[in-house]
Amino acid sequence: MLAIDGVSRRFANGVEALRDASLRLGQGDFVALLGPSGCGKSTLLRLIAGLDRPDSGRLVWNGGAPDIGFVFQDATLLPWATAAENVFLPLRLRGQGWADAAPQVGAALARVGLSGFEAARPRELSGGMRMRVSIARALVTRPKVLLMDEPFAALDEFTRHGLQADLLKLWAELRCTVVFVTHSIYEAAFLARRIVLMTPRPGRIACEIASPGNLARLDPAYAALVAEITTALSHEAEGRL
Ligand code: ADP
Ligand code: MG
Repeated sequence: MLAIDGVSRRFANGVEALRDASLRLGQGDFVALLGPSGCGKSTLLRLIAGLDRPDSGRLVWNGGAPDIGFVFQDATLLPWATAAENVFLPLRLRGQGWADAAPQVGAALARVGLSGFEAARPRELSGGMRMRVSIARALVTRPKVLLMDEPFAALDEFTRHGLQADLLKLWAELRCTVVFVTHSIYEAAFLARRIVLMTPRPGRIACEIASPGNLARLDPAYAALVAEITTALSHEAEGRL
């Protein structure tokens, strides 16, 4: 679906955010970009989204750039608008009227478990619910690719576990391609089928670890995967990757 070849990005202040990153993205993949703060995860995601351009290397979409949904760490909702109006926004920007869009908006909110909250304003919703609205807004246009930049990082662990499980259900239903940025090993191991480990200064892709997927949190295979990622990280820190 997407070929990223030898992509580098250096900012005007001299920071080398990304050096020679290469990655293939397949239709229906669930990829985690995992690494510490400052290793270039957001930079790579912005390049994939087309919000920034590399200094060298290239990104080539097979069949042209698809529709992309983007979810940030903050829900970034319009505070004066209801949940439904927030989800309606991308459709409105495309020129759709409310009468036409209402069923899509209702379905998107239902998909994230927010039926009955259409009229709620962001301040009336919990952090987890606000993030659900944000995900519904990203999905309402049925994008082929969903880019998520630490969407659950600000949530408590209980809420986060619920959203992670629901995201996996959504992914199975919608069969979209997900690139999920996180600095949590546990989160990457729980969600992704492909875990791409990144390292800072300069930001680069260190290695990729495959997951069988559908791992329950108490599954010994989940613990083994977390151990495998942790081992790769320590090898990387010792300069062995
Ligand atoms: P991550 O998302 O992994 O935390 P980023 O991709 O945001 O990392 O940033 C990688 C590095 O590039 C960091 O050192 C960051 O400070 C720097 N950086 C990011 N964006 C810019 C920018 N627009 N201008 C200058 N430096 C930037
Ligand atoms: Mg970031």
